[in-house]
Amino acid sequence: MPSFTNLTRGNEIGANSYLLELDRQRVILDAGMHPKLTGSAATPALPRSAARRADAIFLTHAHLDHAGCLPLAQLAQPDAPVFMSPPTRHLAEPLLFNSVNVMQRQREELNISEYPLFTRHDVHEAMKKWRVCPLNRWHNLGGEPIEPKELARRHGDAELSLIKKTPRLRANQAIFRFHHAGHILGSVMIELQAADRRILYTGDLCLHDQTLMMSAAVPPGPFDLLVVETTRGAQPSERGVTRGLVEQELLAAIRTVFARGGAVLIPIFALGKTQEILAMLHRARRRGDLPADTVPHIGGLGKVFTQAYDATADFSARAHRELDLLRDIRPQIFDLRKIARFKPRRGHLYLLPSGMMTENTTSNIIASHFLAHAEDAIFFVGYSDPDSPAGRLRRALADGDGRVTLNPRHGEQPIRSEVRYFDFTSHADREDLLNFIVSLAPKNIALVHGDTAALAWFRQAIPQHLPAANIFIPESGQRIEF
Ligand SMILES: [Zn+2]
Repeated sequence: MPSFTNLTRGNEIGANSYLLELDRQRVILDAGMHPKLTGSAATPALPRSAARRADAIFLTHAHLDHAGCLPLAQLAQPDAPVFMSPPTRHLAEPLLFNSVNVMQRQREELNISEYPLFTRHDVHEAMKKWRVCPLNRWHNLGGEPIEPKELARRHGDAELSLIKKTPRLRANQAIFRFHHAGHILGSVMIELQAADRRILYTGDLCLHDQTLMMSAAVPPGPFDLLVVETTRGAQPSERGVTRGLVEQELLAAIRTVFARGGAVLIPIFALGKTQEILAMLHRARRRGDLPADTVPHIGGLGKVFTQAYDATADFSARAHRELDLLRDIRPQIFDLRKIARFKPRRGHLYLLPSGMMTENTTSNIIASHFLAHAEDAIFFVGYSDPDSPAGRLRRALADGDGRVTLNPRHGEQPIRSEVRYFDFTSHADREDLLNFIVSLAPKNIALVHGDTAALAWFRQAIPQHLPAANIFIPESGQRIEF
């Protein structure tokens, strides 16, 4: 019986990793690192024994919580090829080398003796097994493309009857293809077929257009198993609030800050949101919605990821392909060596990592300079975990005494600057996601990648539309047969 096992260590937005056991083959879906935990607690429970040999590993996208433990998964499965989209290949390499650097630094700063969990050498070795596959094209687990013409000529329907009728694919050999997931550059959903089962794993999914990334390409159902992210399950979509409207609000807010002589800090992830906001800024400068001399700053890793957006523009599913982000926008690269002497500059916009989810990131360290001045502002543009510095700031504003501790090293300080939150999500709104789930008519649904409230909302909402579907919220280590 085919089965699905949750390899994460909890029901949460953490170290994503799942095991899919098909008739004769096993695949691992993602191998993430928990962004807030450290040491082995931040890793998924990856299968190690030879008896649980995996035939392939799949990477949906190059965010840390999906890709950060890939070298560990590969050390445990040295023969398994790793499949990803071509742009993800450009992003995963710098992500993992940066991760080694971060772990080496944390080993000393936080005294975590097991760090680094993998070395630069491990990453180099792991990369030898990476295979890129274009979107929409069927492949077998050896990475060989399946010729659609040949299939169509023989069988008429290349997609649904593939496995039973194709001699090359007998013996229940699994095949897969990628679908554009709309979340960040290179992000894909993974569709698998084995025997008579069809499976879809969404990874992180966005069902609306962003400035650069176009919305996901939804494959036709029905599916036997749908593994779906639920990030936004606890947030009702606000009626009439479009992305265009949020964009206008943010730009107006930045103009106001600049007009009063202030600077703006936007704590932001180096991959995905940084490039989206840069592209938005470029358009705004051109249209006159922001002063033409607005100076954006990004971090060093942000620059590396931005280069990947530029290098893959011709073969990725993004809008504004003609836009070369680094050449046309010319962001300044933040010099970490000068951080001790940092002072916000009037009319400048600091897009610095990360989303203030943890202490001691660039944005977290310099935030105190902004908080201290009424003319400056800190604008958040993404998810803020309640337990993170960003979440503490939010609470301090809502029901605190106007004081916050962003970093224990700097102590508590009064909030004098403007602080606002703008919702530029790169995840599907929950109502869109519910429609997506219903449209795929899955027999079995595994709800993953969401906090308790988000998972609970989908669990109660789905049966109203799909009363016969089996809905699972798999616990850590739980195996589901389907
Ligand atoms: Zn992601």
